[in-house]
Amino acid sequence: MLLPYASWWVGRQEHRILKEGIELTSEEKMWAASVGVQDVDKVRLLYLPMIPLPVSSITYFVARMLGKPLDVGGMAAQYGIYVVKQSRNDPSILVHEMAHIAQYERMGGIRPFLEQYFEELFTEGYDNSGMELEARAAAIPYNRPPDR
Ligand SMILES: [Zn+2]
Repeated sequence: MLLPYASWWVGRQEHRILKEGIELTSEEKMWAASVGVQDVDKVRLLYLPMIPLPVSSITYFVARMLGKPLDVGGMAAQYGIYVVKQSRNDPSILVHEMAHIAQYERMGGIRPFLEQYFEELFTEGYDNSGMELEARAAAIPYNRPPDR
């Protein structure tokens, strides 16, 4: 029940980002390639004040699974990336989402990606999910030291 809805929703977000988003800069394309994205030319990026989330029970469900409020800095919808404007100067957010794109590619699309993602979420939790750990590790070299 969750999976078909989530797949449909993510597909819609990707459609929007591919239409309204911007292409990666050549530097960003190098970052994407370095974390394993194959088709870096296909990626589009859309900066928004807030990441849209599905307004329904799924939102609350997922938020509860994540064990945290919905303060998301970015989201990857297959080849589309949302990044919140506030995080624009923090490349690690972008690179984290690029690592998820590489996972979409590896797993073969939205549905298999979400299937695996939700399974890990339920069994391992957000902090220990293998897919999240991988994305977090990929972004470490891009972490900016905190502002003083
Ligand atoms: Zn992530």
